Amino acid sequence: MQINTNYANLQDSYLFLTIAKKVAAYTQAHPENKIIRMGIGDVTQPLVPAVIEAMHKATDEMAHKETFRGYSPDQGYDFLREAIQGYYAKRGVSLKLSEIFVGDGAKSDIGNIVDIFGEDNRVLIPDPVYPVYVDTNVMAGRHVSYLDANVQNGFLGMPDENMQADIIYLCSPNNPTGAVYNRAQLQAWVDYALRHDAVILFDAAYESFIADDTLPHSIFEIEGAKRCAIEFCSFSKTAGFTGVRCGYTVIADELVCGETQLNTLWARRQATKFNGVNYITQRAAAAVFTQAGQQQVRDVIAYYRKNAAMMVEAFREIGLWFTGGENSPYIWHKVPEGMTSWEFFDSLLNRAEVVGTPGSGFGKNGEGFFRLTAFGTHEDTAEAMERLKKLLR
Ligand code: PLP
Repeated sequence: MQINTNYANLQDSYLFLTIAKKVAAYTQAHPENKIIRMGIGDVTQPLVPAVIEAMHKATDEMAHKETFRGYSPDQGYDFLREAIQGYYAKRGVSLKLSEIFVGDGAKSDIGNIVDIFGEDNRVLIPDPVYPVYVDTNVMAGRHVSYLDANVQNGFLGMPDENMQADIIYLCSPNNPTGAVYNRAQLQAWVDYALRHDAVILFDAAYESFIADDTLPHSIFEIEGAKRCAIEFCSFSKTAGFTGVRCGYTVIADELVCGETQLNTLWARRQATKFNGVNYITQRAAAAVFTQAGQQQVRDVIAYYRKNAAMMVEAFREIGLWFTGGENSPYIWHKVPEGMTSWEFFDSLLNRAEVVGTPGSGFGKNGEGFFRLTAFGTHEDTAEAMERLKKLLR
């Protein structure tokens, strides 16, 4: 027996573990004090009524012989794929049902997509970014090179002709930086990918946080993208499905390598290794796209957005460089001069009793930066910003 020795090349994922340990030690020493947690990217508001109603109804259907459902169709039920198709159509993106794949969340699909690509691809991943892109490629034994994101480029790395890349990961709105590519920037990426026969793996998990109408929600809003991009999206942040689990991946027929359509490989991969999302969850996800569902999820997003707006205002007052917050649930800010990300974490915890995420945990370019999330309550966010202003002004 041999193990996959590539696992030895993974960096220890100590980020959230270390945060949890530090917070636990502080709480033990000061049990009476209130710590405000702005570190974890999980949602806090409950599922909306339209979703709950659909789940109850679907559960009742499962209780009767006539309406009981077993295995889901491989790519998901038509009723959900039609709803997703309608959602894209509103932005002028026309998709065939066969191009939409329902899955149990963006993380699984992003992690599993590496199965359909050959070993020798050159992989380009922004730094800093959501760590799953790097780790899944390291597990598969692929060499990864990094695209620097920094203050100079507004944490939005752009292509240059000397770059060597076959598979390019883009995340917009970005986790952790909250930065969002505009149309011209995404067009430059699509043009690069088409010229170099590369594929863009586009993570749109936070698309519903985009408030500025000029910014693209989907890479397929960009001319030529169907020929070079795969898009991943999720109900997690859009509709609070982090614990329910549902997402979707879009691969257009136009995306080919030689004679092979990539969506046929993904269909084969999913049919072999995945047995579909349960009926109740797919009904719940479809309810997100009803008129009532859309209104209700928009209200929840508006709630988080109000938190983000409070954070943006506070950081303008504080005067530290930051990005994000306006079209994203994340604020990414510079730590005070002379401090590392972890030193700032300790100072924030010990002196303001606020918890955030050190930017260095997302890649080398994250050193000297810090991520705060807007997923808390208004009351906690307001209090945390007052504490930050006191600490930093
Ligand atoms: N993509 C990004 C950029 C994320 O930040 C996350 C979760 O935080 C995911 C994907 C995973 O989403 P899901 O809950 O659908 O697996």
